Amino acid sequence: MKKIGILVELKNDRIKKTNYGVITLARKQGCELYALVLNGNAAAYKKQLQQYGIEKIIDITAEAEPIEWNPVKWAKAIIAAMEHFGITTLCGLTSAQGKDLLPRIAAYLDAPLVMDCTDLNLNERTVKKSQFSGKTIATIKIAGQHYIFGIRPNAIEAKTATGEAEVIPFQTHVESDGLAVKEIKQQALKGIDLTEADIIISGGRGMENSDNFDILFECAEPIGAAVGASRAAVDAGWVSHSMQVGQTGKTVNPKVYIACGISGSVQHFAGMKTAGIIIAVNTDPQAAIVQKCDYFVVADLFEIIPVLNRKLLEVAEKK
Ligand SMILES: Cc1cc2nc3c(=O)[nH]c(=O)nc-3n(C[C@H](O)[C@H](O)[C@H](O)COP(=O)(O)OP(=O)(O)OC[C@H]3O[C@@H](n4cnc5c(N)ncnc54)[C@H](O)[C@@H]3O)c2cc1C
Repeated sequence: MKKIGILVELKNDRIKKTNYGVITLARKQGCELYALVLNGNAAAYKKQLQQYGIEKIIDITAEAEPIEWNPVKWAKAIIAAMEHFGITTLCGLTSAQGKDLLPRIAAYLDAPLVMDCTDLNLNERTVKKSQFSGKTIATIKIAGQHYIFGIRPNAIEAKTATGEAEVIPFQTHVESDGLAVKEIKQQALKGIDLTEADIIISGGRGMENSDNFDILFECAEPIGAAVGASRAAVDAGWVSHSMQVGQTGKTVNPKVYIACGISGSVQHFAGMKTAGIIIAVNTDPQAAIVQKCDYFVVADLFEIIPVLNRKLLEVAEKK
C-alpha cells in the first residue's frame, strides 16, 4: 500500500485546524497515512490525529536537542523520515511554513511540486489548483517517483474518521548546508489566527485609518472572532499584511465573515468566498459585495459596529 506523509503544522503547541482538511484529502487517496510532527511531542497529538484517520505519527527529532527553525535542516530531516518509512507523497499546507519547506524538499528529491492545491487524485496522478482568483481551475498531470503538494488552507472540508494511531519516534542528524538562522522575529499578532477563525470581522478602506480598527477588535473579542482586512487597508499601512484576506493575502473559511467598508473586489473575494455566511456593512448599495453576500447592511459602519458591539457584549454577559 502506498504511503502519504502529512506535514503537521503546529501553532503555540496546538495542531492548526487547517491540517485536518489536508488529512481528509490524503485519506481520500486510499493510502496509508503518516503524520510527520517536527520536534513537537507528537504523542500529545495522537487523539486529534487519529480522529481524522492518521495511522502512524512520526515524531521527528533532528538532533538530540530541539533545533531552532532551520528550513534546510528540517527539509532534510523530513526527507530522511520519508526514505526511512517509504513515504513517496508528501502533503503540507500552502502556508508560510509550507512555502519554506515544501519547495526545498521537492528540490532535494527532484520531485514535482504543486502548491495551492484544492484537490488531488493520486490514482489518476492529477492535482487541481485554482487560478486567476478562483476564476479557473487547472488540472495538472504529475509524473515522478515522489510527489510534493502544498494544499490550500481551508480549501477542503475536514471530515473525521475512526482508527487508532501509533506514535513512532524518528531521530536523525542533518547538516544545514551552511545556512544559519540568526534571528527569528515573531510578528505581534493581535487576537486569533485568521485561517483558524470561525468568525472574522474585516475592515477595508472604509475604516479610514489605523485607530478605527480598534472598534473591530473590540467587537471581535467577546465573540472570539479574528480581525481581517482588505488590501486597501493593508497598503495604506493601517494594519499588517498578516491580516490581509484575499488573493495576495490569506484564504479563510470561517462560519461567519463580516466585511466592513469593503467593496468586494474579486481579489478580496478569492480569499473568503467559502465563508458560511457573509455579512457586509457598506454605505454604497451598489457595492459589488452586495451581489456576493448573504446579508447586507446599507449603513455607516461607524454607526453600526458600536451598536453590534453593545449587543454582542450583552449576549456575552448573559452567558
Ligand atoms: C494582483 C492583485 C492582487 C490583489 N490582492 C488583494 C487581496 O489579497 N485582498 C484584497 O482585499 N484586495 C486585493 N487586491 C486589491 C483589490 O483589487 C481592491 O483594490 C481592494 O480589495 C479594495 O479594498 P476595499 O474594498 O477595502 O476598498 P474600496 O474598493 O475602496 O472599497 C471601500 C468601500 O468602503 C465603503 N465605505 C466607505 N466608507 C464607509 C463607511 N463609513 N461605512 C461603510 N462603508 C463605507 C465604500 O462604499 C466602498 O465600497 C488585489 C489587486 C490586485 C491587482
